[in-house]
Amino acid sequence: MTQPLNIVWFKRDLRIEDHQPLAAAAQAGRVLPLYIVEPELWAQPDVSARQWAFAAECLCDLQKALAALGQPLCIMVGNAVSILQQLHKDQGIAALWSHEETGNGWTYARDRAVAAWAHAAGVRWHEARQFGVVRRLKSRNGWAQGWDRDMAKAITPPPQALTPISGDWPTYIPNGEDLGLAPDPCPNRQRGGRSAALDTLNSFLRQRGRNYRYEMSSPVSAFDASSRLSPHLTWGTMSMREVAQATWARMQAFKTSNATDPRSWRGSMSSFSGRQHWHCHFMQKLEDEPRLEFENLHRAYDGLRPDCADAERLTAWSEGATGFPFIDACMRALNQHGWINFRMRAMLMSFASYHLWLPWRESGLYLARKFVDYEPGIHWSQVQMQSGTTGINAMRIYNPIKQGYDHDPEGIFVRTYVPELHSVPSAFLHEPWRWEDAASLSYPAPIVDNVLAAKAAREALYIIRKGADHKAAARKIVAKHGSRKAGVPMATQKRRLKAKPVSSGQLALDF
Ligand SMILES: Cc1cc2nc3c(=O)[nH]c(=O)nc-3n(C[C@H](O)[C@H](O)[C@H](O)COP(=O)(O)OP(=O)(O)OC[C@H]3O[C@@H](n4cnc5c(N)ncnc54)[C@H](O)[C@@H]3O)c2cc1C
Repeated sequence: MTQPLNIVWFKRDLRIEDHQPLAAAAQAGRVLPLYIVEPELWAQPDVSARQWAFAAECLCDLQKALAALGQPLCIMVGNAVSILQQLHKDQGIAALWSHEETGNGWTYARDRAVAAWAHAAGVRWHEARQFGVVRRLKSRNGWAQGWDRDMAKAITPPPQALTPISGDWPTYIPNGEDLGLAPDPCPNRQRGGRSAALDTLNSFLRQRGRNYRYEMSSPVSAFDASSRLSPHLTWGTMSMREVAQATWARMQAFKTSNATDPRSWRGSMSSFSGRQHWHCHFMQKLEDEPRLEFENLHRAYDGLRPDCADAERLTAWSEGATGFPFIDACMRALNQHGWINFRMRAMLMSFASYHLWLPWRESGLYLARKFVDYEPGIHWSQVQMQSGTTGINAMRIYNPIKQGYDHDPEGIFVRTYVPELHSVPSAFLHEPWRWEDAASLSYPAPIVDNVLAAKAAREALYIIRKGADHKAAARKIVAKHGSRKAGVPMATQKRRLKAKPVSSGQLALDF
Protein backbone atom coordinates (compact mmCIF):
# COMPACT_ATOMS: atom_id res chain seq x y z
CA MET A 1 0.00 0.00 0.00
CA THR A 2 1.51 3.39 -1.04
CA GLN A 3 1.71 6.24 1.41
CA PRO A 4 -0.88 8.99 0.96
CA LEU A 5 0.27 12.17 -0.74
CA ASN A 6 1.25 15.51 0.67
CA ILE A 7 -0.20 17.89 -1.85
CA VAL A 8 1.63 21.20 -2.22
CA TRP A 9 -0.94 23.43 -3.85
CA PHE A 10 0.81 26.23 -5.75
CA LYS A 11 -1.33 29.30 -6.34
CA ARG A 12 0.30 32.72 -6.75
CA ASP A 13 3.57 31.56 -5.18
CA LEU A 14 5.29 30.10 -8.23
CA ARG A 15 8.78 29.41 -6.87
CA ILE A 16 10.60 26.78 -4.83
CA GLU A 17 12.76 29.25 -2.86
CA ASP A 18 11.42 30.62 0.41
CA HIS A 19 8.43 28.33 0.01
CA GLN A 20 7.65 27.15 3.50
CA PRO A 21 4.73 24.83 2.53
CA LEU A 22 6.96 22.96 0.07
CA ALA A 23 9.76 22.59 2.61
CA ALA A 24 7.38 21.44 5.36
CA ALA A 25 5.56 18.97 3.10
CA ALA A 26 8.87 17.47 1.95
CA GLN A 27 9.70 16.73 5.58
CA ALA A 28 6.30 15.16 6.13
CA GLY A 29 6.46 12.53 3.35
CA ARG A 30 5.76 11.99 -0.36
CA VAL A 31 5.06 15.27 -2.13
CA LEU A 32 2.92 15.95 -5.15
CA PRO A 33 3.42 19.56 -6.30
CA LEU A 34 0.14 20.62 -7.87
CA TYR A 35 -1.09 23.64 -9.82
CA ILE A 36 -4.78 23.80 -10.59
CA VAL A 37 -5.79 25.80 -13.65
CA GLU A 38 -9.28 26.92 -12.72
CA PRO A 39 -11.35 27.88 -15.79
CA GLU A 40 -13.96 29.50 -13.56
CA LEU A 41 -11.31 31.82 -12.11
CA TRP A 42 -10.14 32.71 -15.60
CA ALA A 43 -13.71 33.62 -16.54
CA GLN A 44 -13.89 36.35 -13.86
CA PRO A 45 -14.14 39.98 -15.04
CA ASP A 46 -10.85 41.08 -13.41
CA VAL A 47 -8.50 38.63 -15.17
CA SER A 48 -7.04 38.59 -18.66
CA ALA A 49 -4.97 36.73 -21.22
CA ARG A 50 -1.89 38.88 -20.52
CA GLN A 51 -1.96 37.81 -16.87
CA TRP A 52 -2.33 34.17 -17.84
CA ALA A 53 0.55 34.48 -20.35
CA PHE A 54 2.78 35.78 -17.56
CA ALA A 55 1.60 33.04 -15.17
CA ALA A 56 2.22 30.35 -17.81
CA GLU A 57 5.85 31.49 -18.15
CA CYS A 58 6.20 31.32 -14.37
CA LEU A 59 4.75 27.79 -14.40
CA CYS A 60 7.25 26.79 -17.06
CA ASP A 61 10.18 27.87 -14.84
CA LEU A 62 8.60 26.24 -11.81
CA GLN A 63 8.10 23.01 -13.72
CA LYS A 64 11.82 22.90 -14.53
CA ALA A 65 12.85 23.71 -10.97
CA LEU A 66 10.63 20.97 -9.50
CA ALA A 67 11.70 18.45 -12.14
CA ALA A 68 15.32 19.12 -11.11
CA LEU A 69 14.33 18.23 -7.54
CA GLY A 70 12.88 14.91 -8.71
CA GLN A 71 9.13 15.41 -8.99
CA PRO A 72 7.76 17.64 -11.78
CA LEU A 73 4.81 19.93 -11.26
CA CYS A 74 1.46 18.27 -11.90
CA ILE A 75 -0.92 20.61 -13.73
CA MET A 76 -4.62 19.82 -13.59
CA VAL A 77 -7.48 21.75 -15.10
CA GLY A 78 -10.81 22.04 -13.32
CA ASN A 79 -12.53 22.81 -10.06
CA ALA A 80 -10.21 22.69 -7.04
CA VAL A 81 -12.60 20.79 -4.77
CA SER A 82 -13.40 18.16 -7.43
CA ILE A 83 -9.73 17.65 -8.23
CA LEU A 84 -8.69 17.29 -4.59
CA GLN A 85 -11.65 14.96 -3.98
CA GLN A 86 -10.57 12.73 -6.85
CA LEU A 87 -6.92 12.70 -5.76
CA HIS A 88 -8.02 11.76 -2.26
CA LYS A 89 -10.12 8.92 -3.64
CA ASP A 90 -7.41 7.60 -5.97
CA GLN A 91 -4.24 8.13 -3.94
CA GLY A 92 -5.21 9.32 -0.47
CA ILE A 93 -4.17 12.76 0.70
CA ALA A 94 -2.19 12.91 3.92
CA ALA A 95 -2.30 16.72 4.05
CA LEU A 96 -2.75 19.78 1.88
CA TRP A 97 -0.05 22.49 2.03
CA SER A 98 -0.28 25.98 0.58
CA HIS A 99 0.27 29.66 1.20
CA GLU A 100 -2.57 31.85 2.39
CA GLU A 101 -4.04 33.85 -0.45
CA THR A 102 -5.60 37.30 -0.23
CA GLY A 103 -7.19 37.17 -3.64
CA ASN A 104 -10.41 38.35 -5.23
CA GLY A 105 -13.95 37.47 -4.14
CA TRP A 106 -13.89 34.33 -6.27
CA THR A 107 -10.70 32.87 -4.76
CA TYR A 108 -11.99 33.74 -1.28
CA ALA A 109 -15.16 31.70 -1.93
CA ARG A 110 -13.12 28.89 -3.49
CA ASP A 111 -10.84 28.73 -0.44
CA ARG A 112 -13.84 28.47 1.83
CA ALA A 113 -15.18 25.59 -0.28
CA VAL A 114 -11.79 23.83 -0.15
CA ALA A 115 -11.62 24.35 3.63
CA ALA A 116 -15.11 22.89 4.03
CA TRP A 117 -14.21 19.88 1.89
CA ALA A 118 -10.90 19.31 3.71
CA HIS A 119 -12.66 19.45 7.06
CA ALA A 120 -15.36 17.00 5.97
CA ALA A 121 -12.79 14.64 4.41
CA GLY A 122 -10.52 14.74 7.45
CA VAL A 123 -7.64 16.21 5.43
CA ARG A 124 -5.52 18.76 7.30
CA TRP A 125 -4.89 21.95 5.29
CA HIS A 126 -1.72 23.74 6.42
CA GLU A 127 -1.65 27.35 5.23
CA ALA A 128 1.49 29.44 5.70
CA ARG A 129 1.73 33.21 5.57
CA GLN A 130 3.00 34.41 2.20
CA PHE A 131 3.35 38.16 2.80
CA GLY A 132 3.24 40.41 5.84
CA VAL A 133 -0.54 40.07 5.75
CA VAL A 134 -2.05 38.74 8.97
CA ARG A 135 -5.15 36.56 8.87
CA ARG A 136 -7.81 37.31 11.46
CA LEU A 137 -5.92 40.41 12.57
CA LYS A 138 -7.43 41.90 15.73
CA SER A 139 -5.79 45.34 15.65
CA ARG A 140 -3.54 47.35 13.37
CA ASN A 141 -1.42 48.42 16.34
CA GLY A 142 2.06 46.95 16.00
CA TRP A 143 1.36 45.72 12.48
CA ALA A 144 4.41 47.44 10.90
CA GLN A 145 6.75 46.02 13.53
CA GLY A 146 5.27 42.57 12.89
CA TRP A 147 6.02 43.04 9.19
CA ASP A 148 9.66 43.82 10.00
CA ARG A 149 9.95 40.71 12.14
CA ASP A 150 8.36 38.51 9.48
CA MET A 151 10.58 39.81 6.72
CA ALA A 152 13.72 39.37 8.83
CA LYS A 153 13.06 35.64 9.32
CA ALA A 154 15.47 33.24 7.63
CA ILE A 155 14.70 32.42 4.03
CA THR A 156 13.48 28.83 3.67
CA PRO A 157 15.72 26.85 1.31
CA PRO A 158 14.10 24.48 -1.22
CA PRO A 159 14.09 20.79 -0.30
CA GLN A 160 17.24 19.00 -1.45
CA ALA A 161 15.21 16.47 -3.42
CA LEU A 162 11.68 15.15 -3.87
CA THR A 163 10.92 11.46 -4.21
CA PRO A 164 9.41 10.80 -7.64
CA ILE A 165 5.82 9.60 -7.52
CA SER A 166 4.99 6.91 -10.05
CA GLY A 167 2.08 7.56 -12.39
CA ASP A 168 1.23 9.55 -15.44
CA TRP A 169 0.82 13.05 -14.03
CA PRO A 170 -0.39 15.77 -16.43
CA THR A 171 2.11 18.56 -17.11
CA TYR A 172 0.57 20.44 -20.05
CA ILE A 173 0.25 24.21 -19.52
CA PRO A 174 -2.83 25.40 -21.41
CA ASN A 175 -2.68 28.62 -23.39
CA GLY A 176 -5.09 31.55 -23.23
CA GLU A 177 -7.13 30.21 -26.12
CA ASP A 178 -7.57 26.84 -24.36
CA LEU A 179 -9.02 28.80 -21.45
CA GLY A 180 -11.34 30.80 -23.69
CA LEU A 181 -9.63 34.08 -22.83
CA ALA A 182 -10.30 37.04 -25.10
CA PRO A 183 -7.32 38.07 -27.28
CA ASP A 184 -5.30 40.65 -25.37
CA PRO A 185 -2.18 41.72 -27.24
CA CYS A 186 0.46 43.20 -24.94
CA PRO A 187 3.59 43.46 -27.08
CA ASN A 188 5.87 44.91 -24.38
CA ARG A 189 4.77 42.75 -21.48
CA GLN A 190 7.37 41.75 -18.87
CA ARG A 191 8.47 38.12 -18.94
CA GLY A 192 7.38 35.79 -16.17
CA GLY A 193 9.44 33.23 -14.29
CA ARG A 194 12.07 32.97 -11.60
CA SER A 195 15.04 33.86 -13.75
CA ALA A 196 13.32 37.01 -15.03
CA ALA A 197 12.54 37.93 -11.40
CA LEU A 198 16.17 37.55 -10.36
CA ASP A 199 17.39 39.58 -13.34
CA THR A 200 14.86 42.32 -12.56
CA LEU A 201 15.85 42.54 -8.90
CA ASN A 202 19.56 42.45 -9.64
CA SER A 203 19.47 45.09 -12.35
CA PHE A 204 17.40 47.36 -10.09
CA LEU A 205 19.60 46.98 -7.02
CA ARG A 206 22.83 47.22 -9.05
CA GLN A 207 22.12 49.78 -11.77
CA ARG A 208 18.60 51.00 -12.41
CA GLY A 209 17.66 51.96 -8.86
CA ARG A 210 20.08 54.78 -8.17
CA ASN A 211 17.68 57.63 -8.99
CA TYR A 212 14.50 55.71 -8.17
CA ARG A 213 13.43 58.37 -5.69
CA TYR A 214 13.48 61.15 -8.30
CA GLU A 215 12.60 59.23 -11.44
CA MET A 216 9.70 57.02 -10.37
CA SER A 217 7.03 59.68 -10.90
CA SER A 218 7.49 60.50 -14.56
CA PRO A 219 6.49 57.89 -17.12
CA VAL A 220 9.44 59.08 -19.22
CA SER A 221 11.89 57.62 -16.68
CA ALA A 222 9.79 55.26 -14.52
CA PHE A 223 9.77 52.29 -16.88
CA ASP A 224 13.48 51.94 -16.22
CA ALA A 225 13.90 53.59 -12.83
CA SER A 226 11.16 51.67 -10.97
CA SER A 227 11.95 48.20 -9.74
CA ARG A 228 9.34 46.53 -12.02
CA LEU A 229 9.05 43.76 -9.45
CA SER A 230 5.29 44.03 -9.05
CA PRO A 231 4.25 41.16 -11.40
CA HIS A 232 6.85 38.94 -9.75
CA LEU A 233 5.46 39.69 -6.31
CA THR A 234 1.92 39.14 -7.58
CA TRP A 235 2.75 35.74 -9.06
CA GLY A 236 5.22 34.86 -6.32
CA THR A 237 8.27 34.10 -8.45
CA MET A 238 10.10 35.87 -5.65
CA SER A 239 8.99 36.28 -2.06
CA MET A 240 8.61 39.65 -0.40
CA ARG A 241 11.10 38.42 2.22
CA GLU A 242 13.70 37.84 -0.49
CA VAL A 243 13.12 41.35 -1.87
CA ALA A 244 13.20 42.96 1.58
CA GLN A 245 16.39 41.20 2.65
CA ALA A 246 18.15 41.91 -0.65
CA THR A 247 17.22 45.60 -0.22
CA TRP A 248 18.53 45.70 3.35
CA ALA A 249 21.76 44.02 2.25
CA ARG A 250 22.18 46.66 -0.43
CA MET A 251 21.52 49.45 2.08
CA GLN A 252 24.13 47.93 4.35
CA ALA A 253 26.60 47.74 1.48
CA PHE A 254 26.18 51.45 0.70
CA LYS A 255 27.38 52.29 4.17
CA THR A 256 30.81 50.98 3.42
CA SER A 257 31.16 50.75 -0.35
CA ASN A 258 32.69 53.45 -2.51
CA ALA A 259 29.79 53.28 -4.96
CA THR A 260 29.22 56.27 -7.21
CA ASP A 261 26.73 58.59 -5.60
CA PRO A 262 25.99 56.60 -2.41
CA ARG A 263 23.62 59.30 -1.13
CA SER A 264 21.27 58.87 -4.07
CA TRP A 265 21.45 55.13 -3.67
CA ARG A 266 20.75 55.32 0.05
CA GLY A 267 17.72 57.60 -0.41
CA SER A 268 16.36 55.50 -3.22
CA MET A 269 16.76 52.23 -1.36
CA SER A 270 15.06 53.72 1.68
CA SER A 271 12.04 54.77 -0.44
CA PHE A 272 11.97 51.37 -2.08
CA SER A 273 12.05 49.62 1.28
CA GLY A 274 9.12 51.73 2.53
CA ARG A 275 7.02 50.77 -0.47
CA GLN A 276 7.44 47.11 0.34
CA HIS A 277 5.47 47.82 3.53
CA TRP A 278 2.78 49.54 1.46
CA HIS A 279 2.30 46.40 -0.58
CA CYS A 280 1.21 44.42 2.47
CA HIS A 281 -0.47 47.38 4.18
CA PHE A 282 -2.94 47.64 1.29
CA MET A 283 -3.42 43.89 1.00
CA GLN A 284 -4.19 43.76 4.71
CA LYS A 285 -7.19 46.02 4.06
CA LEU A 286 -8.80 43.55 1.67
CA GLU A 287 -7.88 40.64 3.94
CA ASP A 288 -9.71 42.41 6.79
CA GLU A 289 -12.64 43.63 4.71
CA PRO A 290 -13.19 41.61 1.49
CA ARG A 291 -16.27 43.67 0.59
CA LEU A 292 -14.07 46.62 -0.43
CA GLU A 293 -13.60 44.94 -3.80
CA PHE A 294 -17.27 45.61 -4.51
CA GLU A 295 -18.61 48.31 -2.19
CA ASN A 296 -17.60 51.78 -1.06
CA LEU A 297 -15.45 51.52 2.03
CA HIS A 298 -17.36 54.47 3.47
CA ARG A 299 -21.05 53.79 2.84
CA ALA A 300 -21.99 57.49 2.77
CA TYR A 301 -20.71 57.49 -0.84
CA ASP A 302 -23.23 54.84 -1.96
CA GLY A 303 -25.26 56.17 -4.86
CA LEU A 304 -22.83 59.03 -5.51
CA ARG A 305 -21.99 57.88 -9.01
CA PRO A 306 -24.29 56.00 -11.39
CA ASP A 307 -24.30 52.20 -11.07
CA CYS A 308 -23.62 51.75 -14.77
CA ALA A 309 -20.84 53.52 -16.62
CA ASP A 310 -21.53 55.86 -19.53
CA ALA A 311 -20.42 53.47 -22.30
CA GLU A 312 -19.04 56.18 -24.58
CA ARG A 313 -16.88 57.69 -21.85
CA LEU A 314 -15.63 54.31 -20.63
CA THR A 315 -14.63 53.33 -24.17
CA ALA A 316 -12.87 56.65 -24.86
CA TRP A 317 -10.94 56.36 -21.58
CA SER A 318 -9.97 52.70 -22.03
CA GLU A 319 -8.86 53.17 -25.64
CA GLY A 320 -6.85 56.30 -24.95
CA ALA A 321 -9.12 58.60 -26.92
CA THR A 322 -10.31 61.19 -24.38
CA GLY A 323 -8.70 64.16 -26.13
CA PHE A 324 -6.36 64.72 -23.14
CA PRO A 325 -2.96 63.79 -24.57
CA PHE A 326 -1.26 62.79 -21.31
CA ILE A 327 -4.19 60.59 -20.21
CA ASP A 328 -4.36 58.95 -23.62
CA ALA A 329 -0.60 58.37 -23.76
CA CYS A 330 -0.66 56.72 -20.32
CA MET A 331 -3.57 54.45 -21.22
CA ARG A 332 -2.04 53.41 -24.53
CA ALA A 333 1.30 52.74 -22.80
CA LEU A 334 -0.49 50.59 -20.22
CA ASN A 335 -2.32 48.69 -22.94
CA GLN A 336 1.01 47.92 -24.64
CA HIS A 337 3.15 47.15 -21.56
CA GLY A 338 0.75 45.78 -18.97
CA TRP A 339 2.37 48.18 -16.51
CA ILE A 340 2.53 51.88 -15.72
CA ASN A 341 3.98 53.73 -12.75
CA PHE A 342 2.07 54.59 -9.59
CA ARG A 343 1.43 58.28 -10.26
CA MET A 344 0.02 57.59 -13.71
CA ARG A 345 -2.21 54.80 -12.36
CA ALA A 346 -3.51 57.25 -9.80
CA MET A 347 -4.09 59.90 -12.48
CA LEU A 348 -5.90 57.48 -14.81
CA MET A 349 -8.17 56.35 -12.01
CA SER A 350 -8.79 59.87 -10.74
CA PHE A 351 -9.69 61.05 -14.24
CA ALA A 352 -12.17 58.18 -14.68
CA SER A 353 -13.78 58.71 -11.27
CA TYR A 354 -13.84 62.50 -11.07
CA HIS A 355 -13.68 64.03 -14.54
CA LEU A 356 -15.68 61.28 -16.26
CA TRP A 357 -17.78 60.40 -13.20
CA LEU A 358 -17.58 56.68 -13.97
CA PRO A 359 -18.40 54.11 -11.24
CA TRP A 360 -15.03 52.91 -9.89
CA ARG A 361 -15.92 49.22 -10.07
CA GLU A 362 -16.18 49.32 -13.88
CA SER A 363 -13.10 51.43 -14.59
CA GLY A 364 -11.25 49.49 -11.87
CA LEU A 365 -12.08 46.21 -13.63
CA TYR A 366 -10.64 47.54 -16.87
CA LEU A 367 -7.39 48.55 -15.17
CA ALA A 368 -7.23 45.23 -13.28
CA ARG A 369 -7.29 43.32 -16.57
CA LYS A 370 -4.60 45.51 -18.08
CA PHE A 371 -2.22 45.18 -15.10
CA VAL A 372 -0.06 42.08 -15.39
CA ASP A 373 0.69 42.71 -11.71
CA TYR A 374 -3.00 42.81 -10.72
CA GLU A 375 -3.06 42.29 -6.97
CA PRO A 376 -6.65 42.61 -5.69
CA GLY A 377 -5.71 43.89 -2.22
CA ILE A 378 -3.58 46.75 -3.52
CA HIS A 379 -5.73 47.40 -6.54
CA TRP A 380 -9.15 47.84 -4.99
CA SER A 381 -7.81 49.81 -2.03
CA GLN A 382 -6.04 52.17 -4.42
CA VAL A 383 -9.02 52.37 -6.77
CA GLN A 384 -11.19 53.54 -3.87
CA MET A 385 -8.53 55.94 -2.61
CA GLN A 386 -8.26 57.59 -6.01
CA SER A 387 -12.06 57.77 -6.27
CA GLY A 388 -12.61 59.45 -2.91
CA THR A 389 -14.78 56.68 -1.42
CA THR A 390 -12.63 55.58 1.52
CA GLY A 391 -13.78 58.61 3.51
CA ILE A 392 -10.37 58.81 5.20
CA ASN A 393 -7.94 59.99 2.53
CA ALA A 394 -7.43 63.51 1.21
CA MET A 395 -9.39 64.08 -1.98
CA ARG A 396 -6.86 64.22 -4.82
CA ILE A 397 -8.14 65.25 -8.22
CA TYR A 398 -5.24 65.16 -10.67
CA ASN A 399 -5.18 67.85 -13.34
CA PRO A 400 -4.14 65.90 -16.46
CA ILE A 401 -2.81 68.99 -18.22
CA LYS A 402 -0.60 70.06 -15.30
CA GLN A 403 0.60 66.46 -14.86
CA GLY A 404 1.59 66.46 -18.53
CA TYR A 405 3.62 69.67 -18.25
CA ASP A 406 5.23 68.50 -14.97
CA HIS A 407 6.15 64.97 -15.99
CA ASP A 408 6.55 65.17 -19.75
CA PRO A 409 7.63 68.77 -20.43
CA GLU A 410 9.34 67.89 -23.71
CA GLY A 411 6.42 65.76 -24.86
CA ILE A 412 8.65 62.70 -25.33
CA PHE A 413 6.12 60.34 -23.79
CA VAL A 414 3.06 61.81 -25.50
CA ARG A 415 4.74 61.80 -28.92
CA THR A 416 5.70 58.13 -28.45
CA TYR A 417 2.19 56.93 -27.65
CA VAL A 418 -0.01 59.48 -29.42
CA PRO A 419 1.66 59.79 -32.82
CA GLU A 420 -1.33 61.75 -34.16
CA LEU A 421 0.11 64.71 -32.23
CA HIS A 422 3.59 64.48 -33.68
CA SER A 423 3.36 67.77 -35.54
CA VAL A 424 1.98 69.79 -32.61
CA PRO A 425 4.54 72.28 -31.22
CA SER A 426 5.72 71.39 -27.70
CA ALA A 427 4.12 74.52 -26.25
CA PHE A 428 0.68 73.16 -27.19
CA LEU A 429 1.26 69.44 -26.91
CA HIS A 430 -0.69 68.97 -23.68
CA GLU A 431 -3.51 71.24 -24.88
CA PRO A 432 -3.60 70.71 -28.64
CA TRP A 433 -7.04 72.35 -28.91
CA ARG A 434 -5.28 75.68 -28.26
CA TRP A 435 -3.00 75.27 -31.31
CA GLU A 436 -4.07 77.31 -34.34
CA ASP A 437 -3.92 74.24 -36.61
CA ALA A 438 -5.86 72.00 -34.22
CA ALA A 439 -8.54 71.41 -36.86
CA SER A 440 -5.99 69.56 -39.03
CA LEU A 441 -5.40 66.88 -36.37
CA SER A 442 -6.99 63.44 -36.42
CA TYR A 443 -7.29 63.56 -32.65
CA PRO A 444 -10.50 64.04 -30.64
CA ALA A 445 -11.45 67.23 -28.82
CA PRO A 446 -11.44 66.90 -24.99
CA ILE A 447 -14.27 64.67 -23.86
CA VAL A 448 -15.09 66.98 -20.92
CA ASP A 449 -14.15 70.45 -19.75
CA ASN A 450 -11.15 69.92 -17.48
CA VAL A 451 -11.95 72.68 -14.99
CA LEU A 452 -15.72 72.33 -14.85
CA ALA A 453 -15.70 68.54 -14.56
CA ALA A 454 -13.20 68.61 -11.67
CA LYS A 455 -15.16 71.37 -9.92
CA ALA A 456 -18.45 69.48 -10.17
CA ALA A 457 -16.84 66.33 -8.76
CA ARG A 458 -15.21 68.21 -5.89
CA GLU A 459 -18.48 69.85 -4.91
CA ALA A 460 -20.40 66.57 -4.98
CA LEU A 461 -17.86 64.93 -2.72
CA TYR A 462 -17.69 67.85 -0.29
CA ILE A 463 -21.44 67.69 0.29
CA ILE A 464 -21.04 64.09 1.45
CA ARG A 465 -17.94 64.84 3.51
CA LYS A 466 -19.84 67.49 5.41
CA GLY A 467 -22.75 65.13 6.13
CA ALA A 468 -23.71 64.56 9.76
CA ASP A 469 -22.55 60.95 10.09
CA HIS A 470 -19.50 61.11 7.87
CA LYS A 471 -16.96 61.71 10.61
CA ALA A 472 -18.09 58.97 12.95
CA ALA A 473 -17.98 56.31 10.24
CA ALA A 474 -14.62 57.63 9.02
CA ARG A 475 -13.18 57.27 12.51
CA LYS A 476 -14.15 53.60 12.57
CA ILE A 477 -12.48 53.08 9.19
CA VAL A 478 -9.27 54.69 10.42
CA ALA A 479 -9.31 52.50 13.52
CA LYS A 480 -9.68 49.37 11.40
CA HIS A 481 -7.46 50.15 8.40
CA GLY A 482 -5.40 53.24 9.06
CA SER A 483 -1.66 52.96 8.74
CA ARG A 484 -0.07 53.44 12.16
CA LYS A 485 3.25 53.98 10.45
CA ALA A 486 3.83 54.67 6.78
CA GLY A 487 7.04 52.99 5.74
CA VAL A 488 9.88 52.43 8.15
CA PRO A 489 11.88 55.29 9.60
CA MET A 490 15.60 55.16 9.07
CA ALA A 491 16.27 54.67 12.79
CA THR A 492 14.34 51.39 12.73
CA GLN A 493 16.09 50.31 9.59
CA LYS A 494 19.48 51.01 11.15
CA ARG A 495 18.56 49.05 14.26
CA ARG A 496 17.31 46.19 12.15
CA LEU A 497 20.45 46.08 10.05
CA LYS A 498 22.66 45.98 13.12
CA ALA A 499 20.57 43.29 14.75
CA LYS A 500 20.11 41.03 11.76
CA PRO A 501 22.81 40.82 9.12
CA VAL A 502 21.52 39.01 6.08
CA SER A 503 23.21 35.64 5.78
CA SER A 504 25.02 35.05 2.53
CA GLY A 505 23.89 32.31 0.22
CA GLN A 506 20.21 32.62 1.15
CA LEU A 507 19.36 33.91 -2.25
CA ALA A 508 20.93 33.36 -5.62
CA LEU A 509 21.47 37.05 -6.34
CA ASP A 510 24.72 38.49 -7.56
CA PHE A 511 25.40 41.23 -5.08
C1 LIG B 1 -5.37 52.71 -9.13
C2 LIG B 1 -4.13 51.92 -8.73
C3 LIG B 1 -4.12 50.55 -8.88
C4 LIG B 1 -3.00 49.80 -8.50
N1 LIG B 1 -3.03 48.43 -8.67
C5 LIG B 1 -1.96 47.69 -8.33
C6 LIG B 1 -1.97 46.28 -8.52
O1 LIG B 1 -2.96 45.70 -8.99
N2 LIG B 1 -0.86 45.58 -8.18
C7 LIG B 1 0.25 46.20 -7.66
O2 LIG B 1 1.25 45.52 -7.37
N3 LIG B 1 0.26 47.54 -7.44
C8 LIG B 1 -0.79 48.30 -7.77
N4 LIG B 1 -0.76 49.67 -7.57
C9 LIG B 1 0.37 50.26 -6.82
C10 LIG B 1 1.60 50.72 -7.63
O3 LIG B 1 1.22 51.54 -8.68
C11 LIG B 1 2.42 49.53 -8.15
O4 LIG B 1 2.72 48.65 -7.09
C12 LIG B 1 3.75 49.96 -8.76
O5 LIG B 1 3.54 50.88 -9.78
C13 LIG B 1 4.46 48.71 -9.30
O6 LIG B 1 5.64 49.03 -9.97
P1 LIG B 1 7.07 48.65 -9.35
O7 LIG B 1 7.11 47.22 -8.96
O8 LIG B 1 8.11 49.12 -10.28
O9 LIG B 1 7.04 49.53 -8.03
P2 LIG B 1 8.19 50.12 -7.12
O10 LIG B 1 7.96 51.58 -7.04
O11 LIG B 1 9.51 49.66 -7.56
O12 LIG B 1 7.83 49.54 -5.68
C14 LIG B 1 8.24 48.25 -5.23
C15 LIG B 1 7.06 47.47 -4.75
O13 LIG B 1 6.41 48.16 -3.69
C16 LIG B 1 5.01 47.98 -3.77
N5 LIG B 1 4.36 49.28 -4.02
C17 LIG B 1 4.88 50.36 -4.64
N6 LIG B 1 4.00 51.37 -4.63
C18 LIG B 1 2.91 50.91 -4.01
C19 LIG B 1 1.66 51.49 -3.67
N7 LIG B 1 1.36 52.75 -3.97
N8 LIG B 1 0.75 50.73 -3.03
C20 LIG B 1 1.04 49.46 -2.68
N9 LIG B 1 2.20 48.86 -2.97
C21 LIG B 1 3.13 49.59 -3.62
C22 LIG B 1 4.75 47.05 -4.95
O14 LIG B 1 4.72 45.74 -4.48
C23 LIG B 1 5.99 47.28 -5.81
O15 LIG B 1 6.27 46.19 -6.65
C24 LIG B 1 -1.87 50.45 -7.95
C25 LIG B 1 -1.88 51.84 -7.81
C26 LIG B 1 -3.00 52.57 -8.20
C27 LIG B 1 -2.99 54.07 -8.04
